[in-house]
Amino acid sequence: MYKPNDITYPLISWYKSNKRNLPWRNAFNHENAPYRILVSEFMLQQTTVATVLNYYDRFLERWPRNEDLSNATEDEVLEIWSGLGYYSRGINLLKTSKIIFNDYANKIPKNIDVLKTFPGIGEYMSSAIASIAYNLPSKAVDTNIQRVITRYYQLDFKNAVRNRKTVQDIVLLLTANDSPRDLIQGLMDLGSSLCIPRLPHCEKCPLKKGCHSYKNSKFEFTLKKIKKIIPQRYGRVYLIERSDGSYLLEKRAENGLLAKTYQFPTTDWCETKPLPDSPKSHQEMQVVGKVNHKFSHFTLELTVIKVDNKSEDLQNIVMPENGIWKKPNQLDQLGLSSLMRKASKYIEV
Ligand code: SF4
Repeated sequence: MYKPNDITYPLISWYKSNKRNLPWRNAFNHENAPYRILVSEFMLQQTTVATVLNYYDRFLERWPRNEDLSNATEDEVLEIWSGLGYYSRGINLLKTSKIIFNDYANKIPKNIDVLKTFPGIGEYMSSAIASIAYNLPSKAVDTNIQRVITRYYQLDFKNAVRNRKTVQDIVLLLTANDSPRDLIQGLMDLGSSLCIPRLPHCEKCPLKKGCHSYKNSKFEFTLKKIKKIIPQRYGRVYLIERSDGSYLLEKRAENGLLAKTYQFPTTDWCETKPLPDSPKSHQEMQVVGKVNHKFSHFTLELTVIKVDNKSEDLQNIVMPENGIWKKPNQLDQLGLSSLMRKASKYIEV
């Protein structure tokens, strides 16, 4: 049923003249290429190419090689990662870099099973690194690839797990047959440019001759998603200003959401709306606005409260264990999450 050449020949020749010009695709023959791919794969997890492009070059300028990154601190990595979201990825990339430097003679392993043991590297990423960095056969299947292959062979997609497994087996067969690197990236580019979710541009597609969906004019491909009800949480965030114009920040806990990033002090984030402040606290603190932020598993509304440097409450503030005072122009040097960047906009209010 699966004849690899029907796909590989037209796809690879299309890819060679239509590939996206992405910075991590340059210089595959360079000895530093696997490190560049490693960084790109960490950044691209749950993040669009367009967003990653705003961060990738800056990261590589700061740490051009794995040995440079392996000497970095978490705070330094979070500073560059600030705004990219899913901060544990940055911390896991740093841990992985150190393991590679210390235990693997600074060489990114080619073995998928070894790669999978590193922090933050799962089944897909280990396969993508093996195929893209080292041109090895793999089962690298992202959503774009899954859609193209499912449509090409008009596979059953109702059972998402079974469908993924079938697509992985086909991709392994295809990559074992010819140019894994070009094939995987060609499928990704085809899925993001022509074989798009709603109405695919089949007329321009290099695979239309053998594509079963095209032949039968059936393009459905909707992986069943369980509809999640996203809870709403509420809290307060305090912009506390000292007499020298600096603001109090604290480092979040070692683990959990936004781990180890800096934040302005906040209350707990609860599902019940906080009661309005008492008249007394209104005299001493100023509610300056609200910040809304969407996390993958809840949405958050924070009331932003400014405590100015004349407030009597300043004397009573207990310095948090990981607390620091920073001037507004120093905030960019901290690993501030997007949420806290939104709150920091109220500093000028
Ligand atoms: S012919 Fe159409 S449905 Fe088939 S792979 Fe190409 S774009 Fe997708």
